[in-house]
Amino acid sequence: MRKPFIAGNWKLHKTIGEALDLAGALKQEVAGIDDIDIVIAPVYTSLAKVADVLVGSNISVAGQNCYPAASGAFTGEVSPTLLKDAGCRYCIVGHSERRQLFGETDAFINQKIKVLIEAGLRAIFCIGETLEERESDQMYEVLTTQVREGLKGISAEDMQHLVVAYEPVWAIGTGKTATDQEAEEAHAFIRGLLQGLYDEDLAEATRILYGGSVKPDNVDGLMAQQDIDGTLVGGASLKAADFARITRFKRG
Ligand code: PEP
Repeated sequence: MRKPFIAGNWKLHKTIGEALDLAGALKQEVAGIDDIDIVIAPVYTSLAKVADVLVGSNISVAGQNCYPAASGAFTGEVSPTLLKDAGCRYCIVGHSERRQLFGETDAFINQKIKVLIEAGLRAIFCIGETLEERESDQMYEVLTTQVREGLKGISAEDMQHLVVAYEPVWAIGTGKTATDQEAEEAHAFIRGLLQGLYDEDLAEATRILYGGSVKPDNVDGLMAQQDIDGTLVGGASLKAADFARITRFKRG
């Protein structure tokens, strides 16, 4: 049985005060839920304060990105070690906004995963095809490359510290969700890739999240799919009640 995993990506939203209000409200809303992993990823400036407010709660904190070095002359960057110091347990890597807006490559993402795991953090590794890639039948090729290159040199042991997030780019922030079947098909394919790269046990144990316009009204259908183990939520994670409802998806 894979433990469900619900993560919220706050992207570039919320002042420190707003972030503390949201984290406080969420803490109350999800109090007592102990059979799923709940993670939120605030902006860097509020990370440490939010992490403090959540100490002892059932919510963990994640960075939205990191630079693959412990320290050094990398102006404007934040390392996994510093994220950990700020109270993070997780970090998102390879989000499509990083890939598309900031030109991040599979090789760079792979470096980040390695440094993150070395620093004792867990990676939320995002992959997903664009609409153009899907419509031109390149989706499976794209996912294969992203998985193969992103996980290059990551041992089976290190894979215990990683969850995969399948996020079709055309569904992120657009209000268009993949249908339950479309999402399940992609997830089953990704699980097959993991089986090929590692083995069946590892593929069965690895959690694969779906992301792309997940909302309270579509989460139940998605979470009912066999290979969907959780969700990575953008917009709907900015309201405590909506995100809390997502963590309370209907169990089959
Ligand atoms: C995301 O940011 O990873 C995401 C899936 O956003 P949204 O839920 O708003 O589509």
